[in-house]
Amino acid sequence: MGRIRILSDNVANKIAAGEVVERPASVIKELLENSLDAGAFDIRIDAENAGRRLLRLQDDGCGMMRDDALLAFERHATSKLSDVKDLLAIATLGFRGEALPSIASVSRLLLETRSAEEQTGTAVEIAGGKLLRCDEIARPAGTTITVRDLFFNVPARKKFLRSDQTELAHIGSLVTHYSLGHPNKRFELYHEGRELLGVTPVSTLRDRAFQVFGSEVMQDLVEVSPRSFELRLPPPYVPPGAHQSEPPQPEMAEFVLEGLVSGPHVQRPNRNSVYLFVNGRLIRDRTLQHALTAAYYNLMPAGCYPFALLFLNCDPAEVDVNVHPSKTEVRFRHGSAVHDFVRDAVRDVLMESRPVSSMPLSASSPLHAPIGRPLVGQAPVQRAAELAFSEFSARVEAIALEPESAEMAVVEPPADPGQSEVSEIQINPVPHPAQNVEPIASLHSSKGVRHIPDTHGALDQVALDWERVDSLAALPDLRPLGQLHESFIVAAGRDGLWIIDQHVAHERILFEQILKQRAAGAVEIQQLLMPLVLQLSPAQHFEYARIADELNAHGLDTEPFGQRTIAIKAAPAGVGTADIEKIVFEILEIAESELRSASLDEIRRNVCATIACRAAIKINTKLEPKKIEWVLRALAACEYPMTCPHGRPIALRYSTKDILKSFHRI
Ligand code: ADP
Ligand code: MG
Repeated sequence: MGRIRILSDNVANKIAAGEVVERPASVIKELLENSLDAGAFDIRIDAENAGRRLLRLQDDGCGMMRDDALLAFERHATSKLSDVKDLLAIATLGFRGEALPSIASVSRLLLETRSAEEQTGTAVEIAGGKLLRCDEIARPAGTTITVRDLFFNVPARKKFLRSDQTELAHIGSLVTHYSLGHPNKRFELYHEGRELLGVTPVSTLRDRAFQVFGSEVMQDLVEVSPRSFELRLPPPYVPPGAHQSEPPQPEMAEFVLEGLVSGPHVQRPNRNSVYLFVNGRLIRDRTLQHALTAAYYNLMPAGCYPFALLFLNCDPAEVDVNVHPSKTEVRFRHGSAVHDFVRDAVRDVLMESRPVSSMPLSASSPLHAPIGRPLVGQAPVQRAAELAFSEFSARVEAIALEPESAEMAVVEPPADPGQSEVSEIQINPVPHPAQNVEPIASLHSSKGVRHIPDTHGALDQVALDWERVDSLAALPDLRPLGQLHESFIVAAGRDGLWIIDQHVAHERILFEQILKQRAAGAVEIQQLLMPLVLQLSPAQHFEYARIADELNAHGLDTEPFGQRTIAIKAAPAGVGTADIEKIVFEILEIAESELRSASLDEIRRNVCATIACRAAIKINTKLEPKKIEWVLRALAACEYPMTCPHGRPIALRYSTKDILKSFHRI
């Protein structure tokens, strides 16, 4: 007798449950999607013991007729597909017909439902995949599904569940984000009778986000108002001589993006606050995630992520959702066009809105609050939002708290260690602003060059009294007072005292300038008297071959000079000879490690950033008053004066209000 046999439905359902039902939140996801597909407007979810003991979802959707109520638990039973062609353009959230039988195979499930077309409702009870009863009941139209004792018959799965806090966080996150995806519907989430989320129907995403996150978080978010993009594809190829009644038409596909994103000052250590919806479906997708990271490129340090809530809508035929059993991944038909559209749309919004600058994070803002703090004593809705933010809290905190302060010794220590903190601040006075400001010709100095390490984390810890700058309107009116440690410009503004990091400020100015010159094909160059000859490693040589044209276009006029050797004959204006070699090696290094798969645009921005960094005024450099003036004016004229191209903050402000408070004047 052969050894292969067909598995029973019960075993097959349990196998499917392994993929579809990972934890209580996955049950909620499937039930929620079913309710939304059923056209529900009012959805209430109850959980007990973080969903282990009980999960119940009630909706006012179309309900099920008696026969359908039983059929729904058959494997691959769905009302959402009828033909294989339907698979090419799925407009519903569900389509696999797997969820209900899978959930019923690993729990004790009670379905109570009534279709508006029938007088009586139906109750179906199933435990561990076995049908216990099917009765007529009286109930309003709609559906209630109660799932008790999840994984009661799969002890191994139970062991994989995390703490109550984590499981609840997953549920909270899920419901919160589906509620954001459907502002016109009511969502309620209760845990053991305590309301975690309760939102009434509203007309816009912004209103819903306000309900969920509150006004403080909203301050940090910028709206991506709907932007559309039309993809035109050439008409399909028709072989000559083929009979065609009409000439082939070019294909068109429209994509619309909207949502909310944070300014670059919101820097999260992971992607937990990135929520991407494609046609109403919450998904994880590398193309979109990469597009988002690319939008913040040069605005945020590598390894940091924004908060984002993005909704991409398109023709269902443009996206294949049948990629993963839990339907959380998608595949785009025209991935790279979608990528560039999303990247450019988000970047444009960031540039247009010039949101708050990258200041030390104010402890009061929930987006910056330590993740995973206790949820007691907060407003219910905010608790759910907090749950959404607090996923995987332990891991996140561990990352966020990595010590970095050892690298903080940027400025010279005071000569006398006994000096008080105040006397450490030596301000070199600057006369009143000069009217004639001159551009920096040779600001860079080679003496005492030390690079500021990436200390954004440490800065957060040392400068908590310094406020975030909410508006850059004051930037053009700043009156320079002097320099601190020959590294930071101190200035008085309408709204308080400002400190500007001279190196990163100039870096941003040069970055934008070089980027513009590059786009216009008019980079200013300096011819070298003697070509600079560099020996490259095999890996560097490979990278060089790939980006040589880009280097040349940036004024780094290089050419091969024997085996793995290149000669540099010209360099961008303003870069010192000693730095040229470093720039080339740095660019080749970046290209090698980070940018292997980078687009031309990213390579371009990286080359610009490296040149700008090397050519910028160093710290520990005394600046003439006129030069300080120039830096402030040029910074004010920048498109994005808040962060340097590597995402570090440029300015700090001590507000007049805080100064008054500190002196007990208010
Ligand atoms: P799918 O959603 O992939 O079709 P499910 O197993 O999740 O598969 O559900 C099976 C079927 O049960 C659905 O196609 C739908 O017809 C019906 N159904 C499930 N939940 C509901 C609900 N809340 N309201 C109305 N019909 C539902
Ligand atoms: Mg479903």
